[in-house]
Amino acid sequence: MPLSGKQFTDLIPQLQSICGKTNVIYHADELRVYECDAYTLEKMPPDAVVLPGNTSEVEAVIKLCRDRNLAIIPRGSGTSLSGGVLAVDGGVVIGLSRMNRILDVDFRNRRALVEAGCINVHVTQAVQSEGYLYAPDPSSQFACTIGGNVATNSGGPHTLKYGVTTNHVLGMEMVLPDGETVWLGTQPGGPEDIDGCDLRGAAIGSEGMFGIVTRVLLRLIKAPQSCKTMLGIFESVDDAASAVSDIIAAGIIPAALEMMDQLIIQAVEEAYKFGFPLDAGAVLIIELDGQTTGLSSLTDQIQDICRNKQAREVRIAASKEERALIWKCRKRAFGAIGRLSPNYLTQDGVVPRSRIPEMMKFIKQTAEKYQLRIPNVFHAGDGNIHPLILFDEKDKDQVKRAIQAGHDILGKCIDFGGSISGEHGIGVEKVDFMSRQFSPEDLEAMMKLRKTFDPDMRCNPDKCFPSASRCIDFTLKKQISA
Ligand SMILES: Cc1cc2nc3c(=O)[nH]c(=O)nc-3n(C[C@H](O)[C@H](O)[C@H](O)COP(=O)(O)OP(=O)(O)OC[C@H]3O[C@@H](n4cnc5c(N)ncnc54)[C@H](O)[C@@H]3O)c2cc1C
Repeated sequence: MPLSGKQFTDLIPQLQSICGKTNVIYHADELRVYECDAYTLEKMPPDAVVLPGNTSEVEAVIKLCRDRNLAIIPRGSGTSLSGGVLAVDGGVVIGLSRMNRILDVDFRNRRALVEAGCINVHVTQAVQSEGYLYAPDPSSQFACTIGGNVATNSGGPHTLKYGVTTNHVLGMEMVLPDGETVWLGTQPGGPEDIDGCDLRGAAIGSEGMFGIVTRVLLRLIKAPQSCKTMLGIFESVDDAASAVSDIIAAGIIPAALEMMDQLIIQAVEEAYKFGFPLDAGAVLIIELDGQTTGLSSLTDQIQDICRNKQAREVRIAASKEERALIWKCRKRAFGAIGRLSPNYLTQDGVVPRSRIPEMMKFIKQTAEKYQLRIPNVFHAGDGNIHPLILFDEKDKDQVKRAIQAGHDILGKCIDFGGSISGEHGIGVEKVDFMSRQFSPEDLEAMMKLRKTFDPDMRCNPDKCFPSASRCIDFTLKKQISA
């Protein structure tokens, strides 16, 4: 229940005494900034937002909330696309944006210790002059935080070859919901192999329900010696999808293998002026990296595969600048959607790679069925689809149709033996699908693990579990039945 009256007036000065007056937000108009994340279909402002400056302040805030039995909601940059930071039933949002420092870089051991509010891309920017990088690169990497990446086990275009966040996080400091601070996994300066249960692994992807991550020990990798970025231009999504399967079947693992369909190409071209042909059915961005020797023959092989699948053209980025522009178009594609529609709903399903053509057909039929436009830009190499369902939130019927279209697509992912989230998490958006994807026994086991960390279920409540006291139902069901 949201706080009221005395409860509220007592709380604010106490939070201010911990974090400083300017680091507590509680006026209704200012709280609107925090009423949702990048999943804008649902909005619920918290009672207050605190912006602690260090782990001790996080601990003190958590202890205060524990004593008052208040929900705590960790928040990084709020780029979640599944409503992961929604304060469904009020509570205190703990924002990590002030805890954004890179604390230590240890090149000898290829590690960086960062605060959880550190922006993803800042890590690579800090180490690239020495020839290193931090591999997970979500398209939101200019905004999202390492803490948010840990909580959602983020992926990105280059995770096809390099793996997702869990493969690059060695350990982390976490403040548990009772205020105790623990370190999970490898300690800074400690050996990589540790004994006992992999609690680090359990906490990665726990969507902020196990505690507040405050510091993270990251693995750095050596930047590849060389890199070739290609653009395959296809007449149809089918041909492009078929080329994806053939590339993988040939035993090639590109660093990235991304697809954009015609509608996205048009939006991106209008926004960033790359020179994409507006009549192409789909483009593939295919990136190879590694030792310079050997890259040319793989490039030739990929060009042949694309041509065998009727590619109209396969361009190779001629310069660093051209490569950067290709990636700008891909990584900022969601932003370009503003040119097509006032609102969009991003789905994040996964299908076996070989079923991408069928899935794309299904999405097209779904668009027709609900009379909506659904462009696609996605991690084709991983089978991780991102249909963007376009709608106008002012038109309630369109909202209803967009939600139903999303449900049909997610349902189809499950039918195809895939899953309901590749990287964006479950949040509030997909709670109703958890019991379709998992058995009651699986869900019970997950809940037991959750309760081990958070017995009172106060840390980011109402997310992930279908049995959550209030879930997606609260506004969406109203919208669907309206
Ligand atoms: C344009 C766009 C492109 C995107 N592309 C990708 C992509 O390529 N790959 C991908 O994986 N995702 C992508 N996302 C989704 C999103 O950026 C990621 O989920 C990201 O990891 C969220 O980080 P954040 O800092 O914004 O976290 P938030 O949105 O603030 O929070 C996300 C979740 O993490 C929890 N959390 C945040 N910080 C902490 C903490 N310190 N301790 C504990 N829990 C915490 C929150 O409670 C919430 O459950 C994209 C989003 C947008 C808007």
